[in-house]
Amino acid sequence: MKIEKAYYFLILLTVGIKDDYEKWLTERLEKENPLSDIVLELAFCTSDISKAISVLHNYIIDSTEALDQTVVCDMLRLFLKEKYQSGKMNKKEITSLMYRFACIHENYESFGGSIWNSLYFFDDYYSLAESGNVFWESFDNDLLSYLNDGTPIDLRFPFVPKVKVHKTKRQLVNPFSVHFKKHYCPKCSVELIPIKTTKFFASSSMEAKALDTRLNKKYYEGNIRYIYTVFWCKSCKKEYFVDEIISKPKNNSQ
Ligand SMILES: [Zn+2]
Repeated sequence: MKIEKAYYFLILLTVGIKDDYEKWLTERLEKENPLSDIVLELAFCTSDISKAISVLHNYIIDSTEALDQTVVCDMLRLFLKEKYQSGKMNKKEITSLMYRFACIHENYESFGGSIWNSLYFFDDYYSLAESGNVFWESFDNDLLSYLNDGTPIDLRFPFVPKVKVHKTKRQLVNPFSVHFKKHYCPKCSVELIPIKTTKFFASSSMEAKALDTRLNKKYYEGNIRYIYTVFWCKSCKKEYFVDEIISKPKNNSQ
């Protein structure tokens, strides 16, 4: 097994997608004779996904080869392309999944640089289209070029907002509790999807004041770009702030 393939499965398994991995493992168990060490080790994990993740992680670390991240990104892209073209995922689900892939990579490797840009920033682009800051037509074209041929996202456009931005406020969230744990919609119990959101507000606006309180940010003058994470429910389409879903640790013991 190539380490790129191992890393690809590691990322998919961490976000809770296991079909492709299980299919691959079943196939290897049938075809390999004798079984390679890694296939044997993974087979022993049976349905223990966190154990399989750590086996894959050790396999990559122990390898003498250098990980080709371009190959990994391309495998992830082809996975997304299939999900999108078959209609199994819509644009919003695709872009939020891209962001989660990039977050997992960031957690293991520290941010990988420009190769990961498309995966990292397409959800921002989606937010801009959704809020009317860019045309859906350009978003759709760029998403399709990326999925089909790997054309990377152009960060000069559309990330130039119509207004001059004086300050960016980012919400820092705990990646482990947001991206790796499962959270459910309080209304319909469907699993929530973490989504990075980008919005522009004048600091004097009501929206900016509400967000400042929520994200615990200090006051600034001018136009503010807010980058924060929300949980989105696929079923009832409701968005929740992180603090609405992940409660702060309580002191009282029962
Ligand atoms: Zn819901």
